Amino acid sequence: MLPPANFDFHCHSTVSDGLLPPAQVVARAAGLGVSHLALTDHDDIDGLSEAAAAAAPLDLTLINGVEISIEWKGTPIHMVGLGFDRHHAGLLAGLDSVRSGRVERAKRMGEAFAAIGIPGVFEGAMSYAGNPLLISRAHFARHLVASGLFKEPRQVFDHYLVPGKPGYVEHRWASLEDALGWIHAAGGVAVVAHPGRYKISNGDMRRFLSEFKDLGGDAVEVVCGSHSPDHVLHFARLVRHFGLHASRGSDFHGPKESYVDLGCLPQLPEDLKPVWRLLDI
Ligand code: AMP
Ligand code: MN
Ligand code: MN
Ligand code: MN
Repeated sequence: MLPPANFDFHCHSTVSDGLLPPAQVVARAAGLGVSHLALTDHDDIDGLSEAAAAAAPLDLTLINGVEISIEWKGTPIHMVGLGFDRHHAGLLAGLDSVRSGRVERAKRMGEAFAAIGIPGVFEGAMSYAGNPLLISRAHFARHLVASGLFKEPRQVFDHYLVPGKPGYVEHRWASLEDALGWIHAAGGVAVVAHPGRYKISNGDMRRFLSEFKDLGGDAVEVVCGSHSPDHVLHFARLVRHFGLHASRGSDFHGPKESYVDLGCLPQLPEDLKPVWRLLDI
């Protein structure tokens, strides 16, 4: 008998802020029983060819993926794209434009830390970035943990790296329309990542999902690494209401650093329309 399908449509490699190279992410996923994996690095799809080569001899189907940083009414939101043509020029140019602001932002974050008496943070964070263009707050957190200031990245975020804290720098990301346009032009489907993590009111979440649906958005992560059972019930209700599909993804960044390992998630509620039905797999 075949093992049950196990879909994990959200995870990261060293191409963005994950701790393992793409081939090791794929090998780990296969070892944990994932049958269908999407590697979804932040704003970059450079890991997909290595991941595809690693998946080829394994009993694992690799789906092209990416997690695009956008903002909506000033709130940073993440949009996962799945199943697109990874050579599509419009998508590649769009991702290039999102990446281009990251180094500048990181330098400003370094200046903000220097201003409160913590020097060398930009250089320190950069030493953790496998890909300097994808310098992320996660790399700042790793550097500050390694320098002994905190035990865990989460504490660094709480004290320094979220809005209102001294290391946080406002940044202009892509718009919702842009990200949906790039993903759809490349033949992919668009999924709202980890909706339970955004600091917006219930009313704004409904307005966001309504706009997303009107612009042709496809799905929402209902089951994901950062969702509680209550989040799952809440977002299941919202996708039913808006007629959207549902996705499942761990958001794995690395052993010990992630809440949930690859594929180790509850199943989607049975009545929801799974996003994999929209993909040619
Ligand atoms: P950035 O894209 O540079 O704004 O960084 C966002 C990344 O930081 C996310 O993709 C996570 O990997 C990580 N992150 C965000 N919030 C937290 C948190 N509270 N604790 C740990 N990591 C976080
Ligand atoms: Mn990340
Ligand atoms: Mn995210
Ligand atoms: Mn992610």
